[in-house]
Amino acid sequence: MTRLTDEQLEIRALAREFALGELRPHAEAWDAARALPEEVFRGLADIGFLGLRAPEAHGGLDLDLPTALLAVEALAWGEAAVGLSVAIHAGPVTRALLTAGTPAQQSRWLPGLADGSCLGAFALSESEAGSDVGAVALRAEAADDGWILTGEKRWVTNGVRAGLLVVFARTGAPAEADTPATEGLTAFLVEGGADGIRVVGRERTLGLCASETVTLAFEGVRLPEDARLGSVGEGWSVARDALVHGRLFVAAQALGIAQAAQEHAVRYAGEREQFGRSLDAFGGIQEKLAGMAIRIAQARALLLETAVRVDAAGLDLRGDGVSEGALHHPVSLEAAAAMAKVTASEAAMWVSDEAVQIFGGYGYMRDYPVEKLMRDAKGTEIYEGTSEVLRWVIARELVREAAGG
Ligand SMILES: Cc1cc2nc3c(=O)[nH]c(=O)nc-3n(C[C@H](O)[C@H](O)[C@H](O)COP(=O)(O)OP(=O)(O)OC[C@H]3O[C@@H](n4cnc5c(N)ncnc54)[C@H](O)[C@@H]3O)c2cc1C
Repeated sequence: MTRLTDEQLEIRALAREFALGELRPHAEAWDAARALPEEVFRGLADIGFLGLRAPEAHGGLDLDLPTALLAVEALAWGEAAVGLSVAIHAGPVTRALLTAGTPAQQSRWLPGLADGSCLGAFALSESEAGSDVGAVALRAEAADDGWILTGEKRWVTNGVRAGLLVVFARTGAPAEADTPATEGLTAFLVEGGADGIRVVGRERTLGLCASETVTLAFEGVRLPEDARLGSVGEGWSVARDALVHGRLFVAAQALGIAQAAQEHAVRYAGEREQFGRSLDAFGGIQEKLAGMAIRIAQARALLLETAVRVDAAGLDLRGDGVSEGALHHPVSLEAAAAMAKVTASEAAMWVSDEAVQIFGGYGYMRDYPVEKLMRDAKGTEIYEGTSEVLRWVIARELVREAAGG
């Protein structure tokens, strides 16, 4: 991908305009208040941005993946917590419906996701099941007319506001030593606020403070049979596919944070004078600014190249285990998405850290924007797969490929 299309330029400009007018001016106040007002979501819905990936037939914009990612990057540039909300909604939630949903499920849920009347949440993690998805313990018991969910989900982004929760539950027996622990998981589509769902607690986070990250208790939540998303026991393959998308959306969010930090740093380095010269005249500072630009360019190029490949693979990512034209190794899409997310989130962390350093004492103060960006950046190295676990995924794919698998 060497140049952006007219549509991509248009969507990015629209997202930037929204970010500049509707998000940036309020970011500090929302962070302090630990809340995003409802108008933000109405505004996003008005410009179609809650339907970035939903098909046109269901009221969405049906954007290709690179274009949707450019939009999320620009939103996160304005306010990273909004970038995260949209990333989860348009990323794994929409994707899970598109790959595993029946036509009836898609008709029921996609129009609401697209017009913003229904925000999506992805409820996979639990207190004892973060990186280790196989440890999921929330149970779905078969009942005469459907299922009953009992257990708890932790760190659910959009959890309170969500109209739709994609919930992963254990339907099989706990894993035996000789079977993969992710066997026996099944995905469900659960209406937000359904009887038996209780918000147990709101997390107090380091960054992304305006984002709702909550623990939800499922106390005998009754679901009809048609709430099951995909086949019984195939929950992990639904989650795994959705997470490939989710990681690209988080990478876009991270890039938005990095871009904002870089712009603040360049501006400040030009304004602030010490020793009779502006900071940007010093070699030590120039090195930092150049390092920012290099890392952001690397991350964006890898992200967009990976997004093009993921789009080309369509609904079946498994079909692209090894692809002839791939520029990078390892070549599986799961590994490529992991590489893109690690690269972008580590760029965001490095760039925002250096931006705080360039601001000096002021950078450490809440009155300036860069400390928030550094707090926000840290989250991107953790959710939707930590950097350590994603490196493990990449190495696993390298080894598999070397073994001819
Ligand atoms: C702000 C925020 C929002 C979130 N939103 C959501 C959401 O919407 N939905 C959802 O389902 N979850 C969400 N999460 C949860 C997130 O996905 C998990 O926190 C993450 O997967 C890590 O799990 P854990 O916290 O249990 O850490 P652990 O898995 O306990 O890991 C702790 C440390 O050990 C390392 N580690 C673990 N296993 C290995 C290994 N095999 N090799 C090397 N190192 C390893 C990790 O990298 C990490 O450094 C969110 C988290 C945060 C912070």
